[in-house]
Amino acid sequence: MSGPALVIDGLTVEFGRFRAVDNLSLVVDYGQVHALIGPNGAGKSTVLNVIAGVSPAKSGRISLGDIELTGLTEAQIARHGVRRKFQKPSVFEALTVRENIEIGLGVAPGRAPAGRIEEVLDMVDLTSLAAASAGALAHGQKQWLEIGMVLASDPKILMLDEPVAGLTDEERARTASLVRALRRPDRAIIVVEHDMGFVEQIADKVTVLHEGRTLFEGPMSRVRADPRVVEVYLGR
Ligand code: ADP
Ligand code: MG
Repeated sequence: MSGPALVIDGLTVEFGRFRAVDNLSLVVDYGQVHALIGPNGAGKSTVLNVIAGVSPAKSGRISLGDIELTGLTEAQIARHGVRRKFQKPSVFEALTVRENIEIGLGVAPGRAPAGRIEEVLDMVDLTSLAAASAGALAHGQKQWLEIGMVLASDPKILMLDEPVAGLTDEERARTASLVRALRRPDRAIIVVEHDMGFVEQIADKVTVLHEGRTLFEGPMSRVRADPRVVEVYLGR
């Protein structure tokens, strides 16, 4: 599979009279890691919220292949394989690491396909901590567990909001390898992140948002040379 996975066309989102996303059009391709960057308040998390069906759009359309996602509920959108990791880790602290992955799978307890939980634990490097309570994990491990929870259902569109916020350098490097390993021809990965060093390690393509609009879109290799991006974002 290749070509467009998610197509956003003329998306506008308002909170009261405040326009957080302004007529945004964006195409996310299969097989790619697409980074969404930009200053605080640019509308990045809001875009993920609307894709996931958590925030309503005022106008515009979002489609996944020939499925129109606009207007569907959060649960319906998730069933189409569109999954998001929130900005703050939100694991079930009282449950074990393994139980959290099982919840991410979205099947009844004990009904996970054979080996799937082990596979996911291995991908996010938490095999040795499978029986530990999630509340006892370090911050970085909680981030990976949450990636494992969204990964468990084998999403077509995987969205990560600030996956390295608050992580150490070593944890960032491990998260970068993890995200690169998740890239597949039948999956698109959208990453919202502030850390440019991290973005450079993982992204194939970048969209820079500013005040709800696209300031730049192109390959990672060109973003640092763009004068508008330097002015409003990188140069500060
Ligand atoms: P980013 O993730 O790029 O930092 P957000 O998408 O979180 O930015 O927010 C974009 C703008 O929309 C900000 O000015 C923020 O305060 C505003 N905003 C986001 N969510 C809400 C909400 N639920 N109600 C009111 N304003 C909101
Ligand atoms: Mg945000």
